[in-house]
Amino acid sequence: MPNPLRSLPSVNELLGNPRLQKMVEQVNHSVVVEGVRKILDDVRTQVQETATQMNVPDPAELAERVAAWVSRAEKPGLVPVINATGIMLHTGLGRAPLAEQALDSINAIATGYCNLEVDVKSGERSQRVFVVQDLLKQVTGAEAAMVVNNNAAATLLALAALAGGKQVIVSRGQLIEIGGSYRLPDVMECSGAILKEVGTTNKTRIDDYRNAIGDETGAILKVHPSNFEVVGFTQSVGLKELVELGKKNSLPVIDDIGSGSLVDLSKYGPIEEPVVKKSIEAGADVVLFSGDKLLGGPQCGIVVGKQKWIEKMLKHPLARSLRVDKLTLAALDATLRLYRDEAQAEQKIPLLSMLSTSLENLQHRAERICPQLDALESLASAEIIESESMLGGGSVPGQTIPSIAVALTPKSMSVEKLAARLREGHPALFGRISKDRLLFDLRTVPPKFDTQIVPLVREACHEPASTEETGL
Ligand SMILES: *Cc1c(COP(=O)(O)O)cnc(C)c1O
Repeated sequence: MPNPLRSLPSVNELLGNPRLQKMVEQVNHSVVVEGVRKILDDVRTQVQETATQMNVPDPAELAERVAAWVSRAEKPGLVPVINATGIMLHTGLGRAPLAEQALDSINAIATGYCNLEVDVKSGERSQRVFVVQDLLKQVTGAEAAMVVNNNAAATLLALAALAGGKQVIVSRGQLIEIGGSYRLPDVMECSGAILKEVGTTNKTRIDDYRNAIGDETGAILKVHPSNFEVVGFTQSVGLKELVELGKKNSLPVIDDIGSGSLVDLSKYGPIEEPVVKKSIEAGADVVLFSGDKLLGGPQCGIVVGKQKWIEKMLKHPLARSLRVDKLTLAALDATLRLYRDEAQAEQKIPLLSMLSTSLENLQHRAERICPQLDALESLASAEIIESESMLGGGSVPGQTIPSIAVALTPKSMSVEKLAARLREGHPALFGRISKDRLLFDLRTVPPKFDTQIVPLVREACHEPASTEETGL
């Protein structure tokens, strides 16, 4: 029997295939060579394992396999996603999209040097926090401000700097866990502060806090129980009362508000999220919140409050480990600038413009997309339905605002399969499965992506993409 491996081309022969030559130009030589070696190796192993029973694929087929391998290898770790889940702050999908102004700012700073820690007037060394300090003071009404990597970092730093080695009083109703292994008692332990729980799960009174204060007390902490709600027989203590108690006992009151919106969002729907300014007005010593939740900026943790405490946090050794980079500051600076005019913020910050989009507008967009989907062979139906968009990102699950979605029912494919194929599209399209239908909630889809939805569904409905469709 002739050895079938004799007909296997050499690495150089296969590389000479016109399709792969084109790839060498588009991608790079060494990646394509690696692909060629890999595919030839696979064939050799296969032939040996099947004891020469198989024929070696022809060069065209081998080239296709290499091309597919290269396409997969070249796919970046992060790919853009069209978020049609209706969840506005989807942590899995990167939370808040940035405003154009923030992108311009990153672009201007990223490609060169910048005055991150230099005062341009004097030429002297300065602090990176100064970049956004004035803006943060302006939009929150606070005396001082600083920025760290995220709100978890802000919490850790506040506890360590203000109450390291001392007790921090927290209501039992606020000992929360947020997704991704963030548990308040654990963060507390890491910070070196000692948890002093008071009250019960559903009821905590001001006397519970008062009775817990002693020589060992370092701070009082209030946490917004972002992602859950205690309903029924409940009682909690307002920030103002805690501030009064803190003042009497010379203890700082830390208010972790989580999402922290800079504007009141209740005008967009039944949304009850804390507003940063209100906490400052109520007298909180330190207010902590995320930059990439309702603020609609880059990932970071923002701390605003009294000069004395912020200074202590800035000087703490952990501050260096938790600091933000220049790109985050560039994006945050540009985002905060937009907040100096609320109408402008609503128009230009994607999260706020999503929230403020009218149902008529969504309906109108759905009416353009839906008939085209309904006409696809592989779908049994596509119809416009009423939907509920969610804030997400650790906000109370019940906080929804009305929206419009297009609901798809595939003909032969399962809904899960269709959803999975769309997730692997270019760009990826994420919908939400509900009652055996795939929903595209249009509130979270920027209108510029509307025209991509139908082609993506059409592609996903076909059998698995051939190598010609792998994007190279
Ligand atoms: C989301 C959240 C955090 C964590 O914020 P990250 O920016 O994700 O680190 C902490 N506390 C509360 C109350 C939150 O809602």
